[in-house]
Amino acid sequence: MSRVAIIGAGIAGLASAALLAREGHEVTVLEARPEVGGRAGSWRHDGFRFDTGPSWYLMPEVFDHFYRLLGTSAEEQLHLVTLDPGYRVYFQGQVEAVDISASVEENVDLFESIERGAGGRLEKYLESARETYELASRHFLYTTFADIRKVATGDVVKRWGRVTRLLTQPLSSLVRRTVKDRRLQQILGYPAVFLGASPRLAPSMYHLMSHLDLEAGVLYPMGGFARVIESIEDLAVAEGAEIVTHADVTRIVVKDGTARGVEYLDGSRAKKTLDADIVVSAADLHFTETRLLDMDERTYPQEYWDAKTPGPGALLIYLGVEGELPQLEHHTLLFAKDWQQGFDKIFGVPSGVPEPASLYICKPSGVDPDVAPEGFENLVVLVPVPADPAIGRGDVDGDGDARLEALADRIIAQIAEWAGIPDLAARVTVRRTVGPANFADELNSWRGSAFGLAHMSGQSGFFRPGNASKHVDGLYYVGSSTLPGIGLPMCLVSAELLVKRLRRDTSATPLPEPLEPIAAVVPSAIAERARQLAGAGARGATVGARSLATGAKGLASGAKVAAAGAQRAASSVLAARRALGEDEDG
Ligand SMILES: Cc1cc2nc3c(=O)[nH]c(=O)nc-3n(C[C@H](O)[C@H](O)[C@H](O)COP(=O)(O)OP(=O)(O)OC[C@H]3O[C@@H](n4cnc5c(N)ncnc54)[C@H](O)[C@@H]3O)c2cc1C
Repeated sequence: MSRVAIIGAGIAGLASAALLAREGHEVTVLEARPEVGGRAGSWRHDGFRFDTGPSWYLMPEVFDHFYRLLGTSAEEQLHLVTLDPGYRVYFQGQVEAVDISASVEENVDLFESIERGAGGRLEKYLESARETYELASRHFLYTTFADIRKVATGDVVKRWGRVTRLLTQPLSSLVRRTVKDRRLQQILGYPAVFLGASPRLAPSMYHLMSHLDLEAGVLYPMGGFARVIESIEDLAVAEGAEIVTHADVTRIVVKDGTARGVEYLDGSRAKKTLDADIVVSAADLHFTETRLLDMDERTYPQEYWDAKTPGPGALLIYLGVEGELPQLEHHTLLFAKDWQQGFDKIFGVPSGVPEPASLYICKPSGVDPDVAPEGFENLVVLVPVPADPAIGRGDVDGDGDARLEALADRIIAQIAEWAGIPDLAARVTVRRTVGPANFADELNSWRGSAFGLAHMSGQSGFFRPGNASKHVDGLYYVGSSTLPGIGLPMCLVSAELLVKRLRRDTSATPLPEPLEPIAAVVPSAIAERARQLAGAGARGATVGARSLATGAKGLASGAKVAAAGAQRAASSVLAARRALGEDEDG
């Protein structure tokens, strides 16, 4: 068993903590902020609760696999509902919105109704998207690329020509070959933004994303993404991990080329040290490498980043709005006519904020009664902007930087006009803005990017930063900056890739469910693990009690977690006794 220090309690740090604690390690997570979740945060104000970041629950089977590694399931942990329509799109200069249905057949009909022949071509596109998604899930998602032979198996070799094409040709070309209508091109191209890229920058491999939103259906976890984070935090604690907030890591301690722990400032800014055998940074990789390590310890020094492209920054606007907003769906997108010019501004040098902007609005209050008081709507607006802290910092009630607040005013006016809600601004009762400077200062995000390193050809898959330091033994990375990349499901996979890296497992497939603790295969660790799990069982019971407050479902899963912890403790004690040759009845 090793002592593990994890820097950062975003989803990747929490997920890593849960898996490593289950493996039998002694895990401490240090989080600089007062709360966990990182980019997937939560903000309460005046009776509203806003998810501050993610709002699309994509790749549901990845979440389920993660939960199953921990002996539970997505069904036990979350209450998922299917959104229908999946989302709505407003196009500049067009009053009629387009709704994307939960039914793929209806989406095919929709494409056909907009462009003759596009229905059939969409079917083919989605067939290819599904195949590519399955291929990627089987071969490229769950690999650390530590042994490329495990990736380049018969299946991949057989399709090598196609794979190469998908990796080298931009998504925008594939989309243009599929449909001519600008609006349909935008529907097929916008998922690139999920990857921190644009349709021209993202390789066409990522057309697999259309399988998720046009075919598989769009889900929402009741209680929002705060509930997802809470469930993973609870599981980590039940497995025995300790999570410390107000712990701002200032240095990774390296001796003789090996990570020995971290230094951090606690809540009273007192300097502390945490010794560890393994250090995992779940914080932004640029920050980790350039701020927490000395020059000669860096695998990815500043020069590496100078040649790389960050994903966009974001202006986020959290709004409490009086009255109903039937003009908006749970997910609503606004696409500008010339959105390529918009992407060019976001990623160009010099960069600029597109006008008019293409943007995204989430209205979870349509399905989730807990996010807004009765008679009010909860809106989160995301406007992709350049990754540049100079664009400004936001705040509550218009107290952010003047330029950012003026931009927010402009965006609210745009939504009012495009979606036909003329009195929108007058109905706003809660307003908070967040800009790239918030991301840089509060999350140590590289250049204030909302998403991290963009998924472009040279920054994806094999070319993305790996999950182990090349210069410091015992130092590992998880989260959106590393493999496999941006997004909640990808971060869960990154935690599993960490387990693989520590086990020296170079396979390219998901680990068997549930995760077998190291204690089950290393006899000397059994007795220690049994003691640890006995404590975890008790902590699991506390977590179960806490879940009571969140309702019957939470109680059931909390109790289950407690029971599972206690059961594992009991079986490990038994195994320990057997290993020590003790009488089982004694
Ligand atoms: C606005 C927005 C919308 C998004 N929408 C979606 C979506 O719909 N679906 C989806 O799947 N994904 C979405 N994403 C992406 C997804 O949220 C991220 O990829 C994911 O949350 C990143 O998690 P992480 O753990 O890698 O990093 P983070 O969440 O950034 O966590 C890193 C943690 O490290 C902490 N930290 C940093 N420095 C230190 C230090 N020195 N000491 C201690 N702690 C430190 C930070 O405070 C933070 O808590 C969205 C992101 C944003 C910003």
